[in-house]
Amino acid sequence: MHIILKKWQKLIQEIEDYEGEITSIWLFQKFLDWSIQWKVAKDISVKESYNSYLQYFEYFTARHLSEYPFLHDKEFIDDLVEYDLIRSKETNYKYDYIFSKISNLMWRLITIETSIECPNCKEGNYLLLTDKKLSNIYHSCDLCGNLQKLTQEREYLDNKKLYPISREQLNLLQEQGVPPRE
Ligand SMILES: [Zn+2]
Repeated sequence: MHIILKKWQKLIQEIEDYEGEITSIWLFQKFLDWSIQWKVAKDISVKESYNSYLQYFEYFTARHLSEYPFLHDKEFIDDLVEYDLIRSKETNYKYDYIFSKISNLMWRLITIETSIECPNCKEGNYLLLTDKKLSNIYHSCDLCGNLQKLTQEREYLDNKKLYPISREQLNLLQEQGVPPRE
């Protein structure tokens, strides 16, 4: 069995041991710690897969997770643990699949989805994202890529990568009446 699959199953086992008491921030930290171990993978295809799916999250190792709101309720987390992890335990997973799954779960845990429907595709709801320097805030649609700037701050165009907004930014938005869904 591939070492990644083995460690993935061990991770799920550890999470299962805490079932019912798990919080978003705890789970995100678990996934982050698990992901980072593959940063130094010697196998070139593992490294490539890491770069595609997990490298983005290295950003959070330099931040305090308590800066993020983690608004999901217990039901959301319990369902995620039950259906996306425990019940989906299989043995034929490729590490590519595992990495993309972890990436997807971390993204769902740390981003804030609003109740505002994307006017472009009318299928997704807007997420609240920000740039690396936490200056501008954007409405972003994961489904069609539609991006709308909400703030008038000076734009930093040196890095177009976007990140989830912080608790502080969320508080500011809420004062302006922008509603998150969860
Ligand atoms: Zn859209």
